[in-house]
Amino acid sequence: LPRVLSGIQPTADSFHLGNYLGALKDWVGLQDGYDALYFIPDLHAITMPQDPKLLAKRTRVSVAQLLAIGIDPNKSTLFVQSQVPQHAELAWVLNCLTGFGEASRMTQFKDKSAREGNEQASVGLFTYPILQAADILLYRAQHVPVGEDQRQHLELTRDLAQRFNSRYKKTFVVPDAYVIKGTAKIYDLQNPTAKMSKSAASDAGIINLLDDPKVSAKRIKSAVTDTDREIRFDRATKPGVSNLLVILGALTGESIETLETGYEGKGYGDLKSDVADALADFVTPIQAQVKEFLADPAELDRILTIGAERARAIASVTLRQVYERVGFLTPK
Ligand code: ATP
Ligand code: MG
Repeated sequence: LPRVLSGIQPTADSFHLGNYLGALKDWVGLQDGYDALYFIPDLHAITMPQDPKLLAKRTRVSVAQLLAIGIDPNKSTLFVQSQVPQHAELAWVLNCLTGFGEASRMTQFKDKSAREGNEQASVGLFTYPILQAADILLYRAQHVPVGEDQRQHLELTRDLAQRFNSRYKKTFVVPDAYVIKGTAKIYDLQNPTAKMSKSAASDAGIINLLDDPKVSAKRIKSAVTDTDREIRFDRATKPGVSNLLVILGALTGESIETLETGYEGKGYGDLKSDVADALADFVTPIQAQVKEFLADPAELDRILTIGAERARAIASVTLRQVYERVGFLTPK
């Protein structure tokens, strides 16, 4: 089976609907046709300041959410990045293959460091995409499901793979960006031209999987729409209404056209309460499952131990080859 690899950072108390509809839903489907590896990149998370207790808690909650939405540890390798030391070890070798100027062109660093204030931004944030390259290359993954925001990083990964292969010996698979099809980009309810984001300045426009459905219903009912009354998909002139239609369509499986027809003669209030109901139906069982997984930390640890062992078994083979090819002595 071809191999896919993807990760989601433990940087919030809950994943949001954009994470689910834009990525995680697809991860679930990929488990059948692929050898899938999914991980929580906690090493990446500390490129921005994190409270230690909160990071640990969010890592567990992240794993519980992946299990609750249908990531099956018997089908996929599910692990926490810091439990596989080869990620950091390969990243060092790749750091030494990356030009300073090349790393300086990464736009995520420019964006995130500008937010932090350039002097405060860590060197880890600067080398973030190189660690990401290590994540991918360690497992020789052919396909890497990424959003549009990660395309530049994947390009760097490809460059580094080719550079290592030609400087030393063919070692890495040069991965392709797997453009997630049939998934939706979800926008902020209050600012429907900006993507829904964990790190948004305000959470008023975010729909979190783990929020009380009543809280989400309130946010949905306050979603920004427009001044006419027509329920019609049109991103350019009706971004708020379009976003709600996309969310409802994704949650119910209805096409946008069917929804538009059904809402003829109805108002935004109807649409919003249907979105709120569909959301409640969707998150209620997920929340119950998350609770169950969190109530049994020994089982969660068992799942992660198995995942980390499987990941290390693959990663250690790649790293051993890399070390040997670079000229490091093999420990006897
Ligand atoms: P941050 O703001 O901290 O970057 P994020 O909300 O962008 O957080 P990530 O952990 O960076 O979340 O992304 C996890 C996955 O979710 C990625 O595959 C990303 O492409 C996808 N994703 C994030 N936001 C959206 C969105 N609004 N719509 C669709 N997909 C999204
Ligand atoms: Mg992001």
